Amino acid sequence: MQCWSCRSEITQGDAFCRFCGKGQETRIPWYYKHWGIIALTLVALGPFSLLLVWRSPLLGLRARWTYTIVIGALTWYLCVTTYQLWLRLNALIAPILTLS
Ligand SMILES: [Zn+2]
Repeated sequence: MQCWSCRSEITQGDAFCRFCGKGQETRIPWYYKHWGIIALTLVALGPFSLLLVWRSPLLGLRARWTYTIVIGALTWYLCVTTYQLWLRLNALIAPILTLS
């Protein structure tokens, strides 16, 4: 078993890490939990929440890659959509600007 904070080997059932002193299991920060990562991704961090995904002690390798692919696809979709919207707005505004 590994400490979620410093990744030192600790014994299963230890309430605190004997190396860094961080509490185990029950004290894992909310932003490393599933709903915390999802909320932060949608509300604030976007693709930067991948840092949390890869640092989270709660996620296995498969969950990490799943999050990475989903967040990457969402980011890509948002970028493409924003770019298309920008092009459309430009096309809409261009004739108005050249009227004067
Ligand atoms: Zn530790």
